[in-house]
Amino acid sequence: MRCLVRSVVVAAGVALAMAQPQAAAPLRVVTTTEDLASLAREVGGDRVAVDALAKGYQDPHFVDAKPSFILLVSRADLLIAVGRELEIGWLPPLVNNSRNAKIQPGGSGYLDASQTVKILEIPTGQITRAMGDVHPSGNPHYWLDPDNGRRMAAAIRDKLSQLAPADAAFFTQRYADFDRRLAEAQKRWDATLAPYKGTKVVTYHRSWPNFMDRFGLDVIGYVEPKPGIPPSPSHTLDLIAEMKRLGVKLIVVEPYWSLKTPQAIASQTGAEVLVLAPSVGGTKEAADYIQLFEYDVKLLASALKRATGK
Ligand SMILES: [Zn+2]
Repeated sequence: MRCLVRSVVVAAGVALAMAQPQAAAPLRVVTTTEDLASLAREVGGDRVAVDALAKGYQDPHFVDAKPSFILLVSRADLLIAVGRELEIGWLPPLVNNSRNAKIQPGGSGYLDASQTVKILEIPTGQITRAMGDVHPSGNPHYWLDPDNGRRMAAAIRDKLSQLAPADAAFFTQRYADFDRRLAEAQKRWDATLAPYKGTKVVTYHRSWPNFMDRFGLDVIGYVEPKPGIPPSPSHTLDLIAEMKRLGVKLIVVEPYWSLKTPQAIASQTGAEVLVLAPSVGGTKEAADYIQLFEYDVKLLASALKRATGK
């Protein structure tokens, strides 16, 4: 009896499957970071299967390319990169070794997400080694401005629509929904940080220019003497003097740096050390692109409240 019921249910299931048009397999999307993966999921929904290579708690400049990365990249229909030389130390060999013609730079399955965003700190004049690890095509940490997140999502919508034209309306609708939710959240974030406009802060690496610019905060110095160069005693002393002169009470640090120097600076200046998530996955709570800002804005606002008394 039980068997009979089961076979009837199975037969009904088969009939249903046969009656519906065969759904195309989801596009295989590989992204270099979890921020890009989150945006690709927002736009792609169930028509994409997304894997991120770097984790959000890793320094995205230096990522150990695991053997599993090659397999993912070799099978990808679409590779989305941050660009602006962020992944220059680890992505090109992966792409070369993948033997996947589609996802080579310039290929139909390659998207450099930086092409349509607002880029800060584009250097003028000649770049020398003495400048540290300066990115010649500008600061690559641009995803930390929600307006750039919107532009990146639009670029992903266009690329997915190119690769799967039958789903273009679906991607357009998903993008519109993300755009609406992001705009609503932005109003909230702007209001939360509005009282602290113009407050001076220090950050460890130059990860935050787009973020601080968006919310009106003023970065007056860095724990790193130059991008990618570890703290030095003389730079640290200069920074302490400058922070005392300007009354800076907040040092923002990415989760992958040692807190030793920031804490030493804090103890000399009465500043607070605040670890923020620079990427989705940088902490458990920053599970997607909107939650990343939700997390950082909340933490930053309470630290700024303590620092300014506002
Ligand atoms: Zn950087």
